[in-house]
Amino acid sequence: MTVFQAIDFSDHEQVVYASDAASGLRAIIAVHDTRLGPGMGGCRAYEYPDEASALRDVLRLSKGMTYKSAVAGVRFGGGKAVILLEPGQPKTEALVLAMGRAIERLGGRYITGEDIGTTPQDMSIMLRVTKHVLGASPGDGGSGDPSPSTALGCFEGLKASVRYRLGSESLESATVAVQGLGKVGWYLCERLHAAGARLVVADVNSESVMGAVETFGAQALDAEEIYDANADVFAPCAMGAILNGQTIPRLRATVVAGAANNQLDRPEHGTALQQRGILYAPDYVINGGGVIQLEVEYDGYDATEVERRVCGIAPTLSQIFASADADGITTHEAADRLAEARLGAASR
Ligand code: NAD
Repeated sequence: MTVFQAIDFSDHEQVVYASDAASGLRAIIAVHDTRLGPGMGGCRAYEYPDEASALRDVLRLSKGMTYKSAVAGVRFGGGKAVILLEPGQPKTEALVLAMGRAIERLGGRYITGEDIGTTPQDMSIMLRVTKHVLGASPGDGGSGDPSPSTALGCFEGLKASVRYRLGSESLESATVAVQGLGKVGWYLCERLHAAGARLVVADVNSESVMGAVETFGAQALDAEEIYDANADVFAPCAMGAILNGQTIPRLRATVVAGAANNQLDRPEHGTALQQRGILYAPDYVINGGGVIQLEVEYDGYDATEVERRVCGIAPTLSQIFASADADGITTHEAADRLAEARLGAASR
């Protein structure tokens, strides 16, 4: 297994392999870029099929965090950590502590947080051995679950997208198709419903779907049918790579604005959306609410300040849409340019 030859290696500053025989920890920490600040990104615990998949994930996700933080205007660089669990291996306290010690050894070049497979409680455990942790439980001085902030950023970004594409200040006559009713999807539905939007929803979990039908009067669709929904906005809040050659031709929405990470299967799918006249709110811009919450926590948590800063996602998106139109490029290319300009300015 080679790191430098890995397809997702992108001049990462540091890639560290960590292990602890006593607890069974095997982990990789990648610090992609620290020009804007310490490499910040969640710690994922997952049963990867092999080491190459874990390396790919950590390289890709840490680079994504560099861009997300740069566009969000936070003083973080990009980092990520993955814990490679064996099939059925429990994520014990000893293992989480060993991960905390591995993070401590990096001396603050990497700051961790919760991610898939880890919780605010795990962050609280790590705090016993390292201070380079954000998003611990509120009782332990952390800001806790970032999902409500992510959903607020999505809601404000979705409104900015509707304003830009449909020229409407209100969501009262809009229909939004929400894919995924997990933490972010549910909070987003609450806000959309309160703003008067009509909701069409899908989730593989039928209980969540029934809950949304009862709570928001949403129309339910099968998980596979959500792409065909008769809606103005498609809000992906489940998995990545859902904007691809199969799904894009089916979309009837003219705006895609949702929280899921890595929505475009490949960069050319951004062009495919543009060619269909669909405005795409770049995922790492619209879902930056969580990282903004963590930066405010880093400086001294203040809920009002989080809300104020998260609402700034809307003007950033409007700026990206306008520069994409002005330069004849896709919105995700315009977002990348904004991130790279901020990173370039930091190196100078
Ligand atoms: P979650 O696990 O709480 O929710 C995901 C939901 O998607 C679940 O309800 C699941 O049943 C559903 N789902 C899975 N497969 C599906 C399918 N094929 N069709 C429809 N629904 C499906 O996760 P979350 O924290 O709400 O995050 C949602 C997305 O937003 C993820 O892509 C995540 O990476 C991204 N994101 C989350 C945050 C955050 O603060 N939580 C921040 C940035 C990005």
